[in-house]
Amino acid sequence: MDDHLDLKIGSAMVLVVILLLVIVHMLEYHHDTTTWNNGYHTSDGGKWEYQQMVGHRYSTYYAYKCSECGKIVEFLDYRQEVEE
Ligand SMILES: [Zn+2]
Repeated sequence: MDDHLDLKIGSAMVLVVILLLVIVHMLEYHHDTTTWNNGYHTSDGGKWEYQQMVGHRYSTYYAYKCSECGKIVEFLDYRQEVEE
């Protein structure tokens, strides 16, 4: 066995995994920004109101509830509610 080759394959796989995580995070972040819509629910114009922190397996999310329809959404980052 060539130990150096193993090491190279190992590092390459680690890089691929990191890259995938970054891509997933970017997609999630983009999704968050679209959903947040500057603090308003796109469907009915209700305000996103902060509810609580939600701990998932690998990260913490922040739950918000729509003031109009009561829909609950979770975001990766804490976001400041819109002031009226
Ligand atoms: Zn709504």
